[in-house]
Amino acid sequence: MHHVILGAGPAGVIAADNLRKHDANANITIIGDEDEPPYSRMAIPYLLAGQIGEEGTYLRQDKGHYKNHGIDVKRVRAGAVDPKNKSITLEDGSDVAYDRLLLATGASAIRPPVEGLDLPGVHNCWTMADARAILERADKGDDVVLMGAGFIGSIILEALVKRGVKLVVVEMEDRMVPRMMDETAGAMLKRWCEDKGVRVLTGTQIKGIAESRDGLDVALSSGKSLPARLVVVAAGVASNIGFLKGSGIDTDAGVKVDGFLRTSAPDVYAAGDVAQARDMSTGEFSVLAIQPVAADHGRIAALNMAGHETPHKGSLNMNVLATIGLVTSSFGAWEGVKGGTSARMCDDNAYRYLRLEFDGDRLAGAQAVGLTDHIGIARGLIQTKLRLGRWKDILMTSPERLAEAYVATSQGIAPV
Ligand SMILES: Cc1cc2nc3c(=O)[nH]c(=O)nc-3n(C[C@H](O)[C@H](O)[C@H](O)COP(=O)(O)OP(=O)(O)OC[C@H]3O[C@@H](n4cnc5c(N)ncnc54)[C@H](O)[C@@H]3O)c2cc1C
Repeated sequence: MHHVILGAGPAGVIAADNLRKHDANANITIIGDEDEPPYSRMAIPYLLAGQIGEEGTYLRQDKGHYKNHGIDVKRVRAGAVDPKNKSITLEDGSDVAYDRLLLATGASAIRPPVEGLDLPGVHNCWTMADARAILERADKGDDVVLMGAGFIGSIILEALVKRGVKLVVVEMEDRMVPRMMDETAGAMLKRWCEDKGVRVLTGTQIKGIAESRDGLDVALSSGKSLPARLVVVAAGVASNIGFLKGSGIDTDAGVKVDGFLRTSAPDVYAAGDVAQARDMSTGEFSVLAIQPVAADHGRIAALNMAGHETPHKGSLNMNVLATIGLVTSSFGAWEGVKGGTSARMCDDNAYRYLRLEFDGDRLAGAQAVGLTDHIGIARGLIQTKLRLGRWKDILMTSPERLAEAYVATSQGIAPV
């Protein structure tokens, strides 16, 4: 049995380790197109902040890990997949035959159609190569413009602040983290960043970037412009599915999979940022491009590939950010569900906010600013779909009693 895994990120590496655990005699090959040992993108901000070196980003710290586990790691790009002949064509011209194939090719950063994005000094922050390029131009006091204040942009923001650069964040939507949190939370996060000395321009677009005498000149939709030594582009990501064109494997935003992470082709599975799998909050199939989902997919896909039928019941959409010391988080259906009810607690001055979304007497979604003790509880309540009974009515007026409600409900204690 030859298991081939395309993509050497967390989904691929976790799948390989699980395959070895459940199929001691199989041949396992990981094929990844980056010229690095398998690493975690999630660790890049710590590399930028100087908290770790490159080796700290590696997914397996033991240098002999892959060899010792009989996992062959090839560094080459896969150009095409032929499910009829169970074969992959690599860009070095060779072919690899598989018995079972996992597509774990992740996602890539989007380059929006803005003039000047190909200039030196303009970089995404998605790969190790991007991180190295950013490090060359992000020294203390350097003018840096960050395009996009979404989840990834806000993570990079924190790392750039730690480097001591003069940072301006430009976000075209009306608030920070618009696909993660509501207006109240987004505005609170913006005010927090500005209090810490970061300029945040929301409702503003970057119209173009040009070279100037001192570096780069960033033209804004407001008619103004910003000087920059470095522009970091964090404008969203898209699943890496282009190489599957003509393969007959069904794709949409990502690779379509069923409740066992099987694609439309026999013996081909998908996991991680490339997979369009079940979202447990909505029941729909969508791409949830976060590392816990990639890890979960990798493990479940491997079990299925090894012949242990294991359903994927759905992943939870969750985002947790620490931005210059302020923790923000959102879980599940944070915008609410049709016919549901919602409760809010807001203390603007203290940077504290909690919004709970209910479906009947079950918690369906949540978002929080400045409240770390609610993170695990909100996640647990949403995942277990625990019925809150009369505690739900109490939470409608006192959402901050979430922890109390969770403990009591788990033990079957009704409120008095
Ligand atoms: C700066 C940054 C910070 C992040 N922080 C967080 C965080 O705090 N929390 C969180 O949950 N998530 C975070 N993420 C997102 C997280 O890193 C991804 O969700 C995760 O990496 C997905 O894992 P994956 O294995 O599916 O894909 P990837 O890690 O993208 O790995 C896929 C690999 O496949 C390769 N590949 C693509 N096409 C081919 C091909 N044709 N042939 C061979 N190889 C190919 C890619 O180059 C890549 O090496 C962050 C991402 C970045 C960039």
